[in-house]
Amino acid sequence: MSDVAAINAALNSPNRQFSLERTRNIGIAAHIDAGKTTTTERILFYTGLIHKIGDVDDGNTVTDWMEQEKERGITITSAAVTCFWTQKKDEGIFKSREGLAHRVNIIDTPGHVDFTAEVERSMRVLDGAVAVFCGVAGVQPQSETVWRQATKYKVPRIAFVNKMDRTGANFKNALDDMRKKLGAYAFPIYLPIGAEDRLAGLIDLVNQKALYWGEGDVTNEGLKYEVRDLVGPQIEEAQEALQELIDAVSNKDDSIAELVLEEKPITAPVLKAAIRRLTCKIELIPVLCGSAFKKKGVQCLIDAVIDYLPSPIDIPAAQGLAPDSLEKVEVPPDDNAKFCSLAFKLWTDAYAGKLVFFRVYSGQLKKGDTIYNPRTRKRERVSRLMVIQGSERKDVDSVYSGDIAALVGLRNIITGDTLCNEDYEITLEPPTFPEPVISMAIEPKTKADQEKMSIGLQRLAEEDPTFKVFTNEETGQLIIAGMGELHLEIIRDRLKREFSVEADAGAPQIAYRETITSAAEGEGKWIRQSGGRGQYGHACIEIEPNEKGKGVEVLNEIVGGAIPREFIGAVEGGIREAIKSGVYAGYQVIDVKVKMVDGSFHEVDSNELAFRMAGIFAMKDAFSKAGPILLEPVMKVEATTPDEYQGDILGDINRRRGIIQGVDAKNGQTILSAMVPLAEMFGYATAIRSLSKGRASYSMEPNNFEQVPNSVLAGILDVAKKKGAARS
Ligand code: GDP
Repeated sequence: MSDVAAINAALNSPNRQFSLERTRNIGIAAHIDAGKTTTTERILFYTGLIHKIGDVDDGNTVTDWMEQEKERGITITSAAVTCFWTQKKDEGIFKSREGLAHRVNIIDTPGHVDFTAEVERSMRVLDGAVAVFCGVAGVQPQSETVWRQATKYKVPRIAFVNKMDRTGANFKNALDDMRKKLGAYAFPIYLPIGAEDRLAGLIDLVNQKALYWGEGDVTNEGLKYEVRDLVGPQIEEAQEALQELIDAVSNKDDSIAELVLEEKPITAPVLKAAIRRLTCKIELIPVLCGSAFKKKGVQCLIDAVIDYLPSPIDIPAAQGLAPDSLEKVEVPPDDNAKFCSLAFKLWTDAYAGKLVFFRVYSGQLKKGDTIYNPRTRKRERVSRLMVIQGSERKDVDSVYSGDIAALVGLRNIITGDTLCNEDYEITLEPPTFPEPVISMAIEPKTKADQEKMSIGLQRLAEEDPTFKVFTNEETGQLIIAGMGELHLEIIRDRLKREFSVEADAGAPQIAYRETITSAAEGEGKWIRQSGGRGQYGHACIEIEPNEKGKGVEVLNEIVGGAIPREFIGAVEGGIREAIKSGVYAGYQVIDVKVKMVDGSFHEVDSNELAFRMAGIFAMKDAFSKAGPILLEPVMKVEATTPDEYQGDILGDINRRRGIIQGVDAKNGQTILSAMVPLAEMFGYATAIRSLSKGRASYSMEPNNFEQVPNSVLAGILDVAKKKGAARS
């Protein structure tokens, strides 16, 4: 039986073939263009999954299976791919497991920040990550974002400094960058031999050996590396770096510190085991290097994934909330425990239909079993289970704790749902997602497509929690909102491809937010007396700023029946309606605490509608007295330019209300970082190109919301007034 056949047999076996210790769930995270796709591709090649190396530039890589991704060359959705790796004798640290394959699930995390939701959701289900950096550019802003997310979700990491073959590549600079910008306790475990077009191989510090790759055509043979003794200056360089590594480890690990104190030898397996302990605790970042493109260093990277990144049992058990007490409970990675898993990704597959990617935290699941969704309180039967190996889909009979797989054909599940055993109703904490910063009106090219479009957009919103769709109450227009222009462009693209609806979109609009700066009281009355039965609603409220990020809270503090209980819901409904469509300039209200405190009613004339209107008016009244302000999304921008254009680009950023945060020189280029309001960034791609004759580049990502300055506010309120949305 071939390796692949054996593995397939194993996958279909009723008993788990890959023990938990031999399972790795990893993500490969990077700034766009750092080489994440190429690295993933090479890993899949070496692990025997694909037999022809696909280069990103040809647009045929395994993970980039979405059509648009092929065209754009960026990985948008996180595909979970399963592969297998057997360490060579004497190379792994798990002597007992030599010759046994490890199963590695790679969850592809996108590098483009327009897709932060994808990164967030995949981080939640990873046990470890490989952070890929570009050997020329070092730490770029999106790598910083992804790093922060990995820290937030406590994901242990190893770093791979890629593109060491490129002109300008500098391993030491990239390492310094990691320490400086990310504050990482990062130490090399490999050093490059040569760099740029003279990159010949790597020095393995732990084993004090030199590894050389041939120039390597695409055959297996050409990709093998040769292990040689260190020679000449390599010897001293490698010893110094090893000493630095041992010192770094002994600072944090008592057993190594003891050996150092007693001046006892530290063998390779002992050192490796210590590096593993520290990496799993996120106290150390082992750093590797190489060139994914030139196929140098990839095997070392996969070995390091096995050696240093945790298996599901090397990290603290996932935590969930018990249904009634809401107390934290552990979900142990144990096949014999009750089933508990997290749905982290919805995907409509052209062949298999609707797939729900899920990570099993505890227990096991077999075809034919029933799963329970605590959010919907619904049970569903599992008719088909699938594991994805690149573009191939393999049906499996069962999945075990620590596995990542896909459920086929289940409805009513959204990203972040817990799927569990009915008598073990635990809710795992779903990932958190950032708020949309941009919106646009959308309408189908042909009126007949209206319904099809709504269904399509709803479906896409279920898949992607940072994508929102809603109707503008005043204009009746359908509005889509997301994390950036590219994000919404791709949504329209998918609408066309997957739902056959062509849509026109309006100009992108900034998703401003409204909030208040002080407390105030407000009163709303809706009293009509016209012939027969009249209308009577009257509500008094108090509002105050709520803690940042806390959203809107509406509390009922009405005593003594000033408003009868049956109408309180209507008052709250009115308040919430005003909040949703904005009070000041027609934008959503955030971070406000509202208390319903008083009111009055009429025995005959009071009804729901009248109290709803009273709620709306009370909110408008209070809000306008509470120092309302408008907030705008601010982007973190990094521009890289040859020195001669620095002045022009700085001037331009200033004109865009930007605040410069830093100007750094690197490899003959200037790197400018700045905070710039998103409203000023439309058309920036063209602007920076013409300012620099096409030689400067930039990237940006949402950073925070800030108050819109008065000089700009008037213009926005004017536009809002014309649209009839402003109410102040
Ligand atoms: P991603 O956006 O992080 O997925 O990056 P890709 O893997 O798509 O790579 C971006 C570009 O860099 C492509 O043109 C790759 O061929 C190229 N690239 C990736 N890795 C290397 C490398 O190790 N060396 C060189 N010279 N180019 C690379």
